[in-house]
Order: sequence, then C-alpha cells, then structure tokens
Amino acid sequence: MRKIAILGSTGSIGTQALDVAARHRDRFEVTAIAAHSSAEKVFEQVRAFRPKIAALTIEPKEIPEDIRDCCQWMFGESVLLDVVRACEADDVLVSVVGIAGLAAVMETIKCGKRVLLANKEPLVAGGELVTAAAKAAGLPLLPVDSEHSAIFQCLQGAGGNTPERLILTASGGPFRTWEKKDIYTATKEQALRHPNWSMGQKITIDSASMMNKALEVIEARWLFDMPAEKIDVLIHPQSVIHSMVEFADGAVMAQLGTPDMRLPILYAMSWPERLETGGKRLDFETMKALTFETPDLDRFPGLGLAYEALRAGGAMSAVLNGANEIAVDAFLHDRIRFGQIAQLVEETMHAIPVTAHPTLDQVFESDRLARVKALELLATSRFAV
Ligand code: NDP
Ligand code: MG
Repeated sequence: MRKIAILGSTGSIGTQALDVAARHRDRFEVTAIAAHSSAEKVFEQVRAFRPKIAALTIEPKEIPEDIRDCCQWMFGESVLLDVVRACEADDVLVSVVGIAGLAAVMETIKCGKRVLLANKEPLVAGGELVTAAAKAAGLPLLPVDSEHSAIFQCLQGAGGNTPERLILTASGGPFRTWEKKDIYTATKEQALRHPNWSMGQKITIDSASMMNKALEVIEARWLFDMPAEKIDVLIHPQSVIHSMVEFADGAVMAQLGTPDMRLPILYAMSWPERLETGGKRLDFETMKALTFETPDLDRFPGLGLAYEALRAGGAMSAVLNGANEIAVDAFLHDRIRFGQIAQLVEETMHAIPVTAHPTLDQVFESDRLARVKALELLATSRFAV
C-alpha cells in the first residue's frame, strides 16, 4: 500500500490520478489532496477518498458539515508546502500548473518523499537544482509527462546502456498543417481544440504553439542528463509512439499506447510494476499508418527557443518559462495574437541577462524579471491586438 498526496487534485492530471487510484484502492491510499480554488470539486473528492488532509489556496466561505471534521483542512498561499510537510505520503504527485510547483517539488525532496512529476515548468525553470537535489537525496524523479514516461519506460529495458539520442514525439497540435499567417491570427477556440489529448488550458495552448514541446526538450535535458543536441523532436500526428530512445548500435526502443494519460500517471505511481488503467488498448489491425514529419521552426518558432535557452544555459530556461506563462495568459485574455506568444517569449529572453548555475532564489528572481519584462513589452504598441 503506497500513500500518495496529489497537488493539483482537481485538474486534468489530478482527476485522472484519482481515477486510477480508485481502481486500485488496495494499492494506493490518497492521503492528501490540494487545489487552488475549486472548492466544490475538493469537497466531492474528500467524500470519495477520505484523505487525512485537504487543502485549497483560497479558503472557501464554508465547508459542508458532513466533511468538516473528517480531515485536516489547510488554506493559504503556502498551502502546497504545508501539505508536503504535514502529509504522511510516500509519493507526492505534483500536478499543479506553472512554476507554482517548483517550491513544492524541492520541499518534497527535502522531506525525503518521492516526486511523481507531471508539472513540467519546475524542471524547465529549475532543472539543474531539482535533479541535483533528488540525486543527493537518493530519490528517483518519476516522470508523468507522457514523452518522458515513454523514455523512462524504454530505459527500464536498456540494461544500463546510455542512450545516444532521445526522440520526443509531438502530435503537432491543431495547427500542424496550417499556414503561418493563419496560425498568427488563430483564435482561442481554435487553439484550445487539441486533436488527440484532453488537457488543462495552459498546456493545450502550449501544445498548439509547440511551446509545450520546447518545455519538454528542456525537461528531457534534465531528467535524462542529455545535452540538447542529442534531443530531437519528431512530429507524429497519431500520438501512438509516445517517444523513442536510440542506442550506440542504432537500435531504437519506443513505447506505444493509446493517447491516455492514465498510463504514464499510473506507471509513475506503481513503478516498477504495471497495473491495469481501464484505458483502451492499441488495435494494430485498424491502425492505418504511423507517420512522421520534421517540425517546422518557421511556423512554430517557440520550439527553437528551447534550444536557444539551453545554449544560453543558467536561468535562461526560467526566463523562457516565465515569459511564456505571461504570454499564454495574455493570449487567453485576448491581449495578444496567437502568433505573438513566441515573439513575446523571444524578446523577453533577449532582454534578460543569463544567471549561470542559479540558486533557487535566483531562479525565482529570473522568473520574476521575465514576467516584469514580458508585461512591459505587452504594454507597448507592437503587442496590441
Ligand atoms: P489543470 O489546469 O487541468 O489543473 C491544474 C491543477 O492545479 C488544478 O487542480 C488547480 O486547482 C491546481 N493549481 C493550480 N495552481 C495552483 C496553486 N498555485 N496552488 C494549488 N493548486 C494549484 O492542469 P493539467 O492537469 O492539465 O496540468 C498540470 C501540469 O501537468 C502542468 O504543468 C502540465 O504541463 C502538466 N502535464 C499535463 C498533461 C495533461 O494531459 N493534462 C500532460 C503532461 C503534463 P483549481 O482547480 O482549484 O484551479
Ligand atoms: Mg507531454
């Protein structure tokens, strides 16, 4: 029986994690749940899972009587850290969105608990620190992001051989076949319509701009200690191959499956064991073709920025991430065009000096500077819609 805490329990990943935990109640005890403001959803989850701790950043007006005293309630700005410290979990699934999860990831490692990592932004912003802390503590970082889970799964069968190349697959998103000028003016509704995956808003916009794949390149750089030049991105519209690993002899290992996040979530929860997810199986007889394309950096310039940030090193990835969080929010609030997301990130990166080997405070400072700069650029006439 493993005890799990879920940070971001009301989100796309969090609810799917609860779904697989419910399928295997003999294996997982959900000991703590935390979310931002979705109180009603948290109330329902408390009724269904009876965790010892339930937490929300925003304190609700009232807690329903039937669940008021059945667990410890926590509220406030630092609630994620409070939950990590107080919970009795073996594993903490970090599935909040944005850099908000970074401090919680570091605290989880400090408390000697295992991190199951869905939230990619902490690794993008503070990958060097997060991986060093996990290594020093002798704790694995178990990836939940499907591409990184796929690579991790391939490496389980690699007999200790170091890969020569990682190949991250990408669906290409809703604008894969669109012309550059049409992508530039794409609407929110169009960008939020992902062809293969149903996910939270932020990652869905990132997928449409391919900034998601940029974040994943940086994530892979840290999770698997691979230099950027050995990480390739390949468009694979069917999302059947979730990523691949190439070895010295040219052998390529891949992990395949239907596009269902419950597999990588449950694999991180049950690793090294495999358990039933309740998901559909691949049907090779009806599968028509698996196709591949080279990503087009001209139409999707965000992807190129990952390599630029990794070349610059230090806290430049934190700058990329902070600027992107501002840009996505601005797009979702109709303040910029879709095509200006990558432009805003790039201009912010060029305006902020690199801090080499940043401390945690310096990562947060680079993130803050990036946000201030991005907001400043947003206020200029060039970024008016
Ligand atoms: P959602 O937006 O669906 O959910 C986010 C969750 O985090 C919600 O429970 C939200 O609570 C909570 N939350 C957000 N900010 C805070 C905060 N400051 N403090 C406490 N809780 C907070 O996101 P997703 O589930 O789609 O994504 C989560 C992470 O996983 C992201 O980093 C994403 O990139 C990554 N990921 C997601 C995939 C997916 O398929 N969805 C695939 C691979 C990676 P509330 O509901 O109250 O707002
Ligand atoms: Mg992914």
